[in-house]
Amino acid sequence: MGRRSVWAWGYEDELPSGPELDELAARVEPLIGARPSARHPSPPRVPQPRCPVPGALADFATQDERERAMHTYGKAWPDLVRAFAGDFSPAPDFVLLPRTEADVALALSTCADERVAVIPFGGGTSVVGGVEAAGLGDFSGVASLDLRRMDRLLEVDEVSMVAHVQAGATGPRLEEQLHKHGLTLRHFPQSFEFSTVGGWIATRAGGHFATLYTHIDDLVHAVRMVTPTGPWQTPQVPSYGGGPSPTGLVLGSEGTLGVITEAHLRVQPRPTFRAASDVRFARFADAVAACRAVAQARLYPANCRLLDAGEALLNRVADDGSCVLLLAFESADHPVDAPLARALELCSAHSGDAREPRRPETGPEDAAAWRASFLRAPYLQSALLTLGVMADTFETCCRWSAFDRLYERVSTEVGQALKEACGGGALTCRLTHVYPDGPAPYFTFVAPTRPGEELERWSIVKSAAAEALVAEGAAITHHHAVGRTHRPYFARQTSPTFLAALRGAKQAVDPTGILNPGALIPPP
Ligand SMILES: Cc1cc2nc3c(=O)[nH]c(=O)nc-3n(C[C@H](O)[C@H](O)[C@H](O)COP(=O)(O)OP(=O)(O)OC[C@H]3O[C@@H](n4cnc5c(N)ncnc54)[C@H](O)[C@@H]3O)c2cc1C
Repeated sequence: MGRRSVWAWGYEDELPSGPELDELAARVEPLIGARPSARHPSPPRVPQPRCPVPGALADFATQDERERAMHTYGKAWPDLVRAFAGDFSPAPDFVLLPRTEADVALALSTCADERVAVIPFGGGTSVVGGVEAAGLGDFSGVASLDLRRMDRLLEVDEVSMVAHVQAGATGPRLEEQLHKHGLTLRHFPQSFEFSTVGGWIATRAGGHFATLYTHIDDLVHAVRMVTPTGPWQTPQVPSYGGGPSPTGLVLGSEGTLGVITEAHLRVQPRPTFRAASDVRFARFADAVAACRAVAQARLYPANCRLLDAGEALLNRVADDGSCVLLLAFESADHPVDAPLARALELCSAHSGDAREPRRPETGPEDAAAWRASFLRAPYLQSALLTLGVMADTFETCCRWSAFDRLYERVSTEVGQALKEACGGGALTCRLTHVYPDGPAPYFTFVAPTRPGEELERWSIVKSAAAEALVAEGAAITHHHAVGRTHRPYFARQTSPTFLAALRGAKQAVDPTGILNPGALIPPP
């Protein structure tokens, strides 16, 4: 495994090249009307730091140019575009790599004294401008505070099934340490390879399972956060009934209230019982109704991912215009054939055509194709940029009763925006999570673009999407967080009284306002 790319998702040597890139170019040819050839990234232009590292932090700080470039952006489409063009103008002035909680506390007190903004950094996989030094106001400098050296499993309470971990552990690092105990967190966001425990908690990440314990919210037993005014430790009990939840305020705080240093997480044995099937539907509306029936029957499948026809085609799951529902159940304790059988009955009642259920490790064919495509998708998005194709996603959550109208409006308005901005393009939809009261729809758009016009075209499409969601009362985000990109829409969807309370909490723990200014919390 090589080095991480400074502009793209993942490792440099994992980026599509040769036949894979040729095949991708052939696939997008109909979309952009010509066979594209790959462009190459420009060398990074990183500005000189505006301030030196404060002496007290010299032990665990760096101003290395590559480190500063690697901490400039997250991994949203506009981030990839600017980094590909070599534009690293918002680079932090220095990067802090604390080894202990004491280092974190020292970093915060020193930066508060010196008026340096601090942006907590986990894996840098934010897709909402969460780690970028933009909209900061009047600071003498900016530090990116990266938790990567604090990545250990500290203790496992095997009786209570609670693991005590440091916040800088990435998905693979955490699972590798839990594996030795036969345990898993079972939290698998698509960004699993690089995102971290602290980042998941700070953004309220969603894993890829469709129901029950898939959000990090459900997996956090207790959390510890260091703030400029002191540590914030939440009760280490399964449920604490006194007052508003202190854990709840840390979840989704996006680095604006403190630096999450440790968490106690609910872990579980690795599942051994599995049953899965794929169901094809001729009509999307029938498939949506089937998902609702499964969710409302409280069957709680691990996977209940519905792909519309475009999504099934894009991911090479079905090319005959069918919509495909990927259903799977799993348990570490008991066989799961019965709930699968009942879910398939419900699908049949909605005109679903179920494939023979299968149990092997590889899972059903459609699901295996989907999984391979799911994990490769972030690499392909980067490769599409080199081919002059815009590819991005947005996600939301709504009631079942609101879904049809929402789907219609988003399809129409984003379709128009794609036409206006790019001359055309494609929009696809899948349901990633299903609740008894509603689904979480996830949209993907791909469209042609031109070098130098990528950001403008993307803004037109992104704002059409966000406006359509807000107009229909759907969530501006289900699991991608708020950051800087969604902040204006979050402000419109959130009660002014709650926003004032949030500002009050920030003022109490971060009186000098150094923590991730510009993210999440709108100015008064
Ligand atoms: C290809 C791709 C796929 C994705 N798939 C999913 C998905 O399936 N589900 C999902 O929920 N999200 C997904 N995301 C979004 C992103 O991965 C999540 O928001 C993730 O939780 C961010 O974790 P991170 O460690 O990379 O945090 P970062 O990107 O480094 O930071 C995100 C935010 O959290 C703050 N933060 C980070 N660490 C800490 C800490 N220790 N203390 C306090 N604040 C902190 C940062 O300041 C920032 O505001 C995806 C992103 C990409 C690029």
